[in-house]
Amino acid sequence: MENLEKAIAEIKQALPGLTLLEQEPLAAHCSFRIGGPARALAVPQDVSSLARICSILKEHQLAPFLLGNGTNILFPDEGLQELFLISTEKLQKLFLLPDGAIYAEAGVSLSRLASFAQQNGLQGLEFASGIPGSVGGGVFINAGAYGGELKDVIESVVCLYAPDQGLYELSKEQCAFSYRKSYFSTHGGCMILSAVFRLQPGDREEIAAKMRELNEKRRAKQPLELPSAGSTFKRPEGHFAGALIEQAGLKGFTVGGAQVSEKHAGFVVNVGGATSHDVYDLMLHVRKTVYENSGVVLEPEVIILAPDYKLEDKGPRVHGNIVTVNGPAEE
Ligand SMILES: Cc1cc2nc3c(=O)[nH]c(=O)nc-3n(C[C@H](O)[C@H](O)[C@H](O)COP(=O)(O)OP(=O)(O)OC[C@H]3O[C@@H](n4cnc5c(N)ncnc54)[C@H](O)[C@@H]3O)c2cc1C
Repeated sequence: MENLEKAIAEIKQALPGLTLLEQEPLAAHCSFRIGGPARALAVPQDVSSLARICSILKEHQLAPFLLGNGTNILFPDEGLQELFLISTEKLQKLFLLPDGAIYAEAGVSLSRLASFAQQNGLQGLEFASGIPGSVGGGVFINAGAYGGELKDVIESVVCLYAPDQGLYELSKEQCAFSYRKSYFSTHGGCMILSAVFRLQPGDREEIAAKMRELNEKRRAKQPLELPSAGSTFKRPEGHFAGALIEQAGLKGFTVGGAQVSEKHAGFVVNVGGATSHDVYDLMLHVRKTVYENSGVVLEPEVIILAPDYKLEDKGPRVHGNIVTVNGPAEE
C-alpha cells in the first residue's frame, strides 16, 4: 500500500495532465454495474503515457491492471485499494496499413473495428460487431461468436511486458490462442497495446447484411436490456452452458440482485442492486447444481477480480479466470 501511494504521487508529478481518477466507483466502468471504489484508475491519452505510468509502477515493484470496456469482469463490492488500474479507452488509433491489413489500438471497440472493416470492403470480422468489448480485452480472451474467433483474423499483437518494460510484437502463433484463452490470459504482465488484423476482400453490402443478421440474432436471444458480463461460463466440450443450466432447473434462479437470465440461462444478469457476492454465490450454486445434475464442471468465462474471496470455503473451487492481485490468472 505504501508503495502504491508513493507511485501515485510520482505519477501525478511526472504526468500532470493525466486523467487520474481516485476512489472511482468501479460499477461505472463495467457492464455488470457492480464494484466498489478503485484507489486509482488512470486514463492515459496515448501509449507513451501508458508506458511512463508502467515504468513508475515498476520502480515501486507494482504492475497495473489493464481495463478495456469492462464487459467481461466482476469487480468486488469492497473495491480495489491495492491495485493501480489503467483504462485503454483513449487508445483509439484505427487505420489501414499500406498492405491492406487493419491496425487497431487496444481501446478501439470491437464494433467500431468491425464497422471499419465493412466500410473498407473487408470481411471476417462480422462475428465481432455485436461483442461489446475492446480490441485489448478481445485479444486477451480470444473473443468469439457465431463460429468466428479473433484468432482467425489476427496477424500480430504488440504488448508492453511489465517485468522488463520491453515492447514485444507477437505473431498469431506466439499469441497461443485457443477457446477463450491466449498467451496473455495465461501469463501475467502483458499489456496489449495494439493488434493487426488480416482480412479478405468482400462485398460491402453482404458484409453489412451479415452483421445485421448476427446482431438481430443477438438481440432476440440475449438479455441485452439488463446489465451483465455476457456468457457467465465457458462452453464445456460437447455441451452448451446455457442448456445445462436450464436443464438443471436454474433459469430465473436469483440470489439478491443477481439472476440466471430468464431469456438466456447462460447469462447472469443484474436485476437491480446486485453485489459481487450475489453474483459470486449464484455462480457457485449454478456450478454445484449443474455438476450434480449432469456431471459437467462449468468454468467461468467472466474474469473474477476478487483478491479476498475464499473460494474453497464456499463449495467447489472455481477454476480459471480468477485474477489474483500479484500474479497471472490461475490455471
Ligand atoms: C451483452 C454481452 C455480450 C457479450 N457477447 C460476447 C460474445 O459473443 N463473445 C465473447 O467472446 N464475449 C462476449 N462478451 C464478453 C466480452 O465483451 C468479451 O470478453 C470482450 O472481449 C471483453 O473485452 P473488454 O474490453 O470489455 O475487456 P475487459 O472486461 O475490460 O477486460 C477483460 C480482461 O481482459 C484484460 N484486458 C483488457 N484490455 C487489456 C489490454 N489492453 N491488455 C491486457 N489485458 C487487457 C483485463 O485485464 C481483464 O482481465 C459479451 C459481454 C456482454 C456484456
